[in-house]
Amino acid sequence: MSKVGKVFLVGAGPGDPNLLTLRAAELIASADVVAADALVAPEIVARTPKNAELIYVGKRSGAHSVPQEETNRLLIEKAKEGKRVVRLKGGDPFVFGRGGEEAEELAAASIEFEIVPGISSAIAGPAYAGIPVTHRAHATSVTLVTGHESEETTGVDWQSLAKLNGTIVFLMGIANLPMIVRKLLEHGAPAARPAAVISKATTAQQQTVTGTLETIEQRAAGLATPALIVVGSVVSLHDAINWFESKPLFGKRIVVTRARGQASDLKRLLEDAGAQVIQLPTIEIGPPSSYESLDAVIRAISDYQWLIFTSSNGVEAFFDRMDKDARALANVKIASVGDSTAHALRARGIEPDLIPPKFQSVALLPLLPQDQKGVRSAVIRAAEGREELIDELRRRGGTVDLAVAYETRRVASSVDELHDIDVVTFTSGSTVDNFFEVLPDKSAIEGALLASIGPTTSDAIRRRGREPDIEAPQATIDSLVDAIIRMLSR
Ligand code: SAH
Repeated sequence: MSKVGKVFLVGAGPGDPNLLTLRAAELIASADVVAADALVAPEIVARTPKNAELIYVGKRSGAHSVPQEETNRLLIEKAKEGKRVVRLKGGDPFVFGRGGEEAEELAAASIEFEIVPGISSAIAGPAYAGIPVTHRAHATSVTLVTGHESEETTGVDWQSLAKLNGTIVFLMGIANLPMIVRKLLEHGAPAARPAAVISKATTAQQQTVTGTLETIEQRAAGLATPALIVVGSVVSLHDAINWFESKPLFGKRIVVTRARGQASDLKRLLEDAGAQVIQLPTIEIGPPSSYESLDAVIRAISDYQWLIFTSSNGVEAFFDRMDKDARALANVKIASVGDSTAHALRARGIEPDLIPPKFQSVALLPLLPQDQKGVRSAVIRAAEGREELIDELRRRGGTVDLAVAYETRRVASSVDELHDIDVVTFTSGSTVDNFFEVLPDKSAIEGALLASIGPTTSDAIRRRGREPDIEAPQATIDSLVDAIIRMLSR
């Protein structure tokens, strides 16, 4: 028997790619065909599996748009071929999304289908603008209205809308805002009734303007689409509840150059503060070209007085490689440079004996005895790294072995998104060097602030002829994000 096709009419949410439902994500991941509307966030469309077919359908302002009948025909045809078709629609498929019409057509053609509701811009847009669509003190109803009906043939009951003391949300109404305002006023709505326009809701470009029926038209002039119009007393709550646009880094575009595997904490903190994060990993962490030096240290582990870890990558690589009973470390002292390094050690059940106050390997030197005669230490780190610590310990008479636990490699990443950048973050000297070497056109970051995690990274920036604009007081990710917020909220 041939595979039976199926169509999923799936809501993709209002714009913020994180507002996709779990069900929608799962269906996209298993789709043979993804048919997406222009309103669907590019990050969501990008989830289309590599071997699936991606088709753009529906309205695209300015560009060619596929007529509805053609879309219906396409969905049916693909399903008949036995494909799992995910029809992705902005917001919710049944809220002014023509999902009802598509479902009717599928039913008529006896094609199996499912509806996956999405978060509608009609509700989420106001929510992101700090406007609850209902509120016990303000509105006991909410009405969703199309603003697209042409003025003369309008089927909208303006009489009733003007009388309602609830909330009215107009979709597809921005071009008709003057007509909408006029109709409401003509039918007796008070000129002082609060109104708002929310443009590009739930995205980094969101913009909300508020006013009254009398002033909103003038205030909303020039706002970009897609946009919603909200009318009703709930709009007055915007000033108090406006949580999204008031985030400290709202609307800022910030580049993270950290290796992808390590970038998630920095990315999350920046996003929590409202920033739009552009991941441009310039390095990746991988195994060293040879494990010889690390294996030699592990073999002789109980002969060492000190193990010195300078990064969490070193800790991970060491313990992944270590094939001995944990008690082999019983008499070895452990020094840890950096916040995340100590964290990684504790996760392996080890409390470091020595943590310098500054997160640089040379900061260990004042804390270690002047006389290193008879002391054997191993430094576990990347192949490339600073030699000062090793050189100085040897000068003091110590025996120091370098254990190369991992390597950082340069990766080329796409620079398409590298425009209108507010801040570029650097978390190590190698991210600086690689970033400047892969960047073809320096003008892309001319106006951007350069943010460094600490003195070593700042020096690497200076070697590239730029002065760091921001340096984290403590060499931690939290401190870096705090410093960026402080700088940008000045
Ligand atoms: N099914 C969609 C609505 C489709 S109609 C949903 O549930 O959200 C398209 C209209 O939705 C646009 O004209 C605009 O009024 C509104 N819209 C969609 N996304 C929007 C967004 N991110 N910000 C503001 N309005 C949006």
